[in-house]
Amino acid sequence: MDTSPPEPRLSALYQELILDHYRRPRNKGALEGATHSVSLNNPLCGDEIDLQLRVDADVIRDVRFIGRGCSISQASASMMTQLLKDRTVPQALTLAARMSAMMQGDESAAKDKSLGDLRALAGVSKFPVRIKCALLPWNALTDAVKP
Ligand code: ZN
Repeated sequence: MDTSPPEPRLSALYQELILDHYRRPRNKGALEGATHSVSLNNPLCGDEIDLQLRVDADVIRDVRFIGRGCSISQASASMMTQLLKDRTVPQALTLAARMSAMMQGDESAAKDKSLGDLRALAGVSKFPVRIKCALLPWNALTDAVKP
């Protein structure tokens, strides 16, 4: 017997987590001593992300963002910053690839613990228009660290 909670309850829990990050974003604000920064927007939705990183010897020592827009874009940015600190650049790019796979409906990515709170966004893959919202901060990350 499958004893996991029914899907609607799980979705409600995830919705709560998304709203929590939206209302109380982690690592929001300007980063002093940033070595990399990228601003991106998603004109379809009006989302804006300015991602700032302090990278030293290929390790992300600190990361912050400034942004505004829908709950999905801002929650994704907040959740992403939680994961990036003290990761190497290649590790960060691996996470970006997992996030992208999850947005394409990859179920193994949606269960990947390395994505942390971001797994709450797995359901967004069913809404193609919102996928750009969820990936906006990740695209900023990829742009920021590419050589
Ligand atoms: Zn959006």
